[in-house]
Amino acid sequence: MSRVYNFSPGPAALPLKVLERVREDIPDWNSSGMSIMEVSHRSKTFMDLAEKAEQDVRDLLSISNDYSVLFLQGGATLQFAMTPLNLSQSGDVVDYVQTGSWSKKAISEAARFCTVNIVADSSDSNFCHIPLQAEWRKTTNAAYFHYTANETIAGVEFHFIPETAEVPLVADMSSTIFSRPIDVNRFGVIYAGAQKNIGPAGVTLVIVRNDLLDRKRADTPTLLTYKVFADSGSMANTPPIFSWYVTALVLEELKAQGGVVAMAKINESKAMKLYQAIDDSNLYNNPVQPDYRSWMNVPFVLRDANLNTKFLAESESAGLFNLKGHRLVGGMRASIYNAMPEEGVDALIYFMQEFEKLNG
Ligand SMILES: *Cc1c(COP(=O)(O)O)cnc(C)c1O
Repeated sequence: MSRVYNFSPGPAALPLKVLERVREDIPDWNSSGMSIMEVSHRSKTFMDLAEKAEQDVRDLLSISNDYSVLFLQGGATLQFAMTPLNLSQSGDVVDYVQTGSWSKKAISEAARFCTVNIVADSSDSNFCHIPLQAEWRKTTNAAYFHYTANETIAGVEFHFIPETAEVPLVADMSSTIFSRPIDVNRFGVIYAGAQKNIGPAGVTLVIVRNDLLDRKRADTPTLLTYKVFADSGSMANTPPIFSWYVTALVLEELKAQGGVVAMAKINESKAMKLYQAIDDSNLYNNPVQPDYRSWMNVPFVLRDANLNTKFLAESESAGLFNLKGHRLVGGMRASIYNAMPEEGVDALIYFMQEFEKLNG
């Protein structure tokens, strides 16, 4: 078997241990005589799995009983609509920080349902920084405050939690959740599509403070209502069983590896050595202000863009895949989520240095 180092931003690499377990489980899951894809979501064995997955999320992030943990569908993108539909009434003002492509998308969707106040916008630096919190123009009685904790495309991360006083804080954590500890008690809603750092596409994790479940609009469609899923154990209709199951395995593996504290250590070390290698080189450049550099997505451009094709071809030959940057940023991007081992980052750095010696 030859597995490559997969630096894809999403769907992203999954732990090999989890994949091996899936392979083993497929024909006869949990002595049911069926695969996981064929069992009823109402069966005791699946309900037990769902319960354990929820408990593992709670344990990993120390989530209190004031919060519901939901496993939804529709990706993080559907949350761009579900947050306004569940937390605001039409005509309400909602606050958003615009720090990159994903927050821009969240803003344009929210604007269909509410009045969006953009408290700060870093488009003038090409999304290479986060405006200072002291300069944000917040609304005192906003229905909620939304930010994108890690902008997956430009590689910009909030290494702090915004202060919003009584206004419920909503975070898109798709590309950073479980990469480090977070104080969930500071948040109203946290959401994350699975396919970056949690599992396969098809499941979206939503953590919502229970007192917010009654803020929905009267005309919010049933399946877009947090409360409907909170009241039904996320089984308002047939859930994405397979994705949920793989997610449960990833969570179990994460706990076995020491949880988010252990992950944070490794992730910080992976990111710091990669940024150091970029900063030490004459060929590569990362334009993000150091205080806001992402631990998860590390974009870099080559001084001579004519070398891009060669870099990509040779990196693939070296077993390093999916390094092509997003078209909005150009160059390269190495996404180094939890499932990317430190050896993968070491192999990338070695390759980059060798490539620079020959082409720099
Ligand atoms: C990938 C991503 C999304 C979109 O997720 P989908 O699950 O494809 O809808 C939204 N926000 C962030 C920060 C992302 O990285």
